[in-house]
Amino acid sequence: MIQRTPARIEARNEPAGHAPRTARLHIPEPDASWQRLLASAVTRPEQLLARLKLPADAWLAGAEAGHGLFSIRVPEPFIQRMEPGNPNDPLLRQVLPLAEETARAPGFVTDPLAEDGAVATTGLIRKYRSRALLMVTGQCAINCRYCFRRHFPYADHRLGPDDRRQIADTLTADQDINEVIFSGGDPLAASDKLLAQWSQLLEDIPHIRRLRIHSRLPVVIPQRVDSSLLAWLSASRLQKILVIHVNHPAEIDEPTRAALARLRGAGVTLLNQSVILQGVNDDTDTLIELSETLFDAGVMPYYLHAFDPVQGAHHFDVSDDHAKALVRGMMDRLPGFLVPRLVRELPGETSKTPLL
Ligand SMILES: *Cc1c(COP(=O)(O)O)cnc(C)c1O
Ligand code: SF4
Repeated sequence: MIQRTPARIEARNEPAGHAPRTARLHIPEPDASWQRLLASAVTRPEQLLARLKLPADAWLAGAEAGHGLFSIRVPEPFIQRMEPGNPNDPLLRQVLPLAEETARAPGFVTDPLAEDGAVATTGLIRKYRSRALLMVTGQCAINCRYCFRRHFPYADHRLGPDDRRQIADTLTADQDINEVIFSGGDPLAASDKLLAQWSQLLEDIPHIRRLRIHSRLPVVIPQRVDSSLLAWLSASRLQKILVIHVNHPAEIDEPTRAALARLRGAGVTLLNQSVILQGVNDDTDTLIELSETLFDAGVMPYYLHAFDPVQGAHHFDVSDDHAKALVRGMMDRLPGFLVPRLVRELPGETSKTPLL
């Protein structure tokens, strides 16, 4: 997570929500419960390097320096999709801190989206007319080095009962809001108990039609998509949309495909958003393969975000001209529905801004 001290994991002590236990048969806690995988994520530079068989003398100093600014967090199922010994692995690049993070570059700031100015009430960000972001938890399952929220003051967004009431009142009073987006952090890092409560709160507001969830968890820890998650999702009257966040086709492995299929079976519409990142996906072939792989897995490409100039991540920056050329290259070779919208979020605009 963004905080340096490990955030409390609400769900850690709950059973994984599988079949009820019988008295006679001792069924051990499954090793692969998502709570356990979340809690045992790699969080130390030397641990990550050892796991990937990368020499400490080349990588440790940079990793330590970046880690001091925004801590490392990578869950094991995501590490398993990386190629050991390859420092340029596109999945590793997203999570390995480099010395470049300590450099300052002009125009790269701590709050590039000016979200601080859009807080409607504690925990609720409202920038666009019909939809509001609910910051369910500040915790993430993975810390992405390029994250535009790497400096976000999450500590200010821990929600208590008064905040919940305020949020409910704000949403109830505003008929324009018909969609609420669970965001964070990663909202699916919260317990299903908490998520089901929020969902119920929204269901009780008649003008809310859609629940959208923006999460990386079903990809980085596919075990997150368990029967307990599917139970409250399927039970909700709201239309459900899950926007996953995948930047490279190698992120989609078999367990992830299976998790996505379970979500689709529960009536969830699946979309993907990516960030265009230097050294990860800034070439047309990779982006085309990403769209094809997503569609194979039942996911529609939605947004391709132009890079947000967040301090400490300028080494991922791709120029707008290059980004536009890449998307034109996709248009040449893909059906229109597999070309994501290239957008940027600009403070003060009424929607995301298309670049093409
Ligand atoms: C991106 C975003 C949304 C969702 O925008 P869509 O274009 O509907 O996907 C809503 N609120 C905020 C603050 C956002 O940044
Ligand atoms: S990009 Fe998403 S999952 Fe990654 S650190 Fe940022 S909020 Fe968390």
